[in-house]
Amino acid sequence: MNAKPVKRKADLSEDLVLLPLGGTGEIGMNCYCYGVGPSAARDWLMVDLGVKFGDEQDPGVDVIMPDVGFITKNRKRFHGLVVTHAHEDHIGAICHLWPQLECEVHCTPFAAELLKLKLIEHGLDEAVPLIIHKPGSKFTLGPFKLELIPVTHSIPESCALFIDSGHGTALHSGDWKIDPTPQMGHNIAEKRFRELGEKGVDALVCDSTNVLREGFSPSEKDVAATLGDIIAHAKGRVAVTTFASHVERISCAVRAARAAGREVVIAGRAMRNTIEAARKCGYLKDAGAFLDIEEFGYLPNDRVLLLCTGSQGEPRAAIARIADDSHPQIALEPGDLVIFSARTIPGNEKVVGAVINNLAKLDIGVITADDAMVHSSGHPRQGELKQMYEWVKPKILVPMHGEPRHLRAHVQFAKAQGIAETLMLEDLKIARLKPGAAEIIDEAPGGRLHLDGKLIVDSEDGPARQRRKLSFAGIIFVSALMNDKGELLDLEVIADGLPQGLAGDLSDRAEEAFTSMPRARRKDASAVEETLRTSLRRFCDEAWGKKPVCKVVVHNA
Ligand SMILES: [Zn+2]
Ligand SMILES: [Zn+2]
Repeated sequence: MNAKPVKRKADLSEDLVLLPLGGTGEIGMNCYCYGVGPSAARDWLMVDLGVKFGDEQDPGVDVIMPDVGFITKNRKRFHGLVVTHAHEDHIGAICHLWPQLECEVHCTPFAAELLKLKLIEHGLDEAVPLIIHKPGSKFTLGPFKLELIPVTHSIPESCALFIDSGHGTALHSGDWKIDPTPQMGHNIAEKRFRELGEKGVDALVCDSTNVLREGFSPSEKDVAATLGDIIAHAKGRVAVTTFASHVERISCAVRAARAAGREVVIAGRAMRNTIEAARKCGYLKDAGAFLDIEEFGYLPNDRVLLLCTGSQGEPRAAIARIADDSHPQIALEPGDLVIFSARTIPGNEKVVGAVINNLAKLDIGVITADDAMVHSSGHPRQGELKQMYEWVKPKILVPMHGEPRHLRAHVQFAKAQGIAETLMLEDLKIARLKPGAAEIIDEAPGGRLHLDGKLIVDSEDGPARQRRKLSFAGIIFVSALMNDKGELLDLEVIADGLPQGLAGDLSDRAEEAFTSMPRARRKDASAVEETLRTSLRRFCDEAWGKKPVCKVVVHNA
């Protein structure tokens, strides 16, 4: 007997899903999309759109960005982008990818000021609708009821985002720490987090950066005290380098300078931009006036403090140029002191080390976070994570903002704290948060984009991969001129990036390879190209142990 085919209903279950387009494989490039509705017609919301900076892995690539193609394809049901805070790993891709998204951008006043500066640079300031919300505000985008909840972090007006989709709730933590004594801006909204915990939070999507560290982060108050102490006892000039966007730290350094009777000079465009944006939003009111960089040289050594960019060893930033004595206006001398009031982001150790070595050559003292409490991270350690779990009581914990090792450790930590469900997500996986158990239900197409000069290219078929090969073994060009009888009239070989001795032999090898071909095949241009290419590469491999890129062009006379 044949069973009657069961007529399946279309899947119209209303669900709440999370799709990270970036931010689960590394620290940087944050972009998380929340969707709600039946799978065939979901409404989408994007939280953050950041960049990750390119490194030697991708030569010539300035920044790496998430591919937002999946959202642009669903544009009709895409309701906008919400920014949690103004760090580059959360906003840096907006000016590059907004033309694809053409959406409203919702952010706090300070983030809006910094974004405006970037949008002006890209000629987008008129086009992008920036909708400004104060921290603590509630607003609605499509089916999503949203609330920006104040947290402490390392840039003004950082917020977590509470998302009520009507079919489940998620708390997107953004970047945060618990600083009971911040030196600027709002406190973390403990009361509000507790209230949400009482109402019920289905999923906490949470910062994992410092999950490997036990205890609690030191407060900015401790950093301020250390800076105050060091600067008060310094005899010569003092330079403090920190993240350009760390307004709270800038404020602490300025206060320490004022207490020690020092004038403050600012070096670095990014830092000046941040200060201007901060002042427009009412911060740094008590900081007083800053002096122009030209005045630095005229001030007595113990009456000046320089605040400058370059804490990550950026070669064009102020402190790197001061360290190699090439800054047009500023020079330090033996007896002066440089404070690195920042963490070295993994990957930047070499360049930061080079700057510190250059300072050492000039006999200038250096204090880093390894020597004294001159920096505290803006991300939660285990004690703070546990505290947040207790406030929010999430049913599900989804780790974000971390490398795989951080995400995995966060899952284990959350389980140990008694959170019932955890889900380790990868970029482009679509996870259902509600209803039912949290699980991966689908995958979105996509990848990564490279900003390569002025162009945006796909990371897979972009030119960075080819450049990596070129940088490893160089390139050989062969130009062969032939007549229609298959005779070689002229042969030219040019090599770049190959050892001298080897390059000199290439012409002979190419000719030998040509003569070794059966006469009939020599008339076939593509066979000649292929023979010359493979034999030159084989020759290099045998003699040198490397196979350069080889391009052969056959011309017919
Ligand atoms: Zn971040
Ligand atoms: Zn951040």
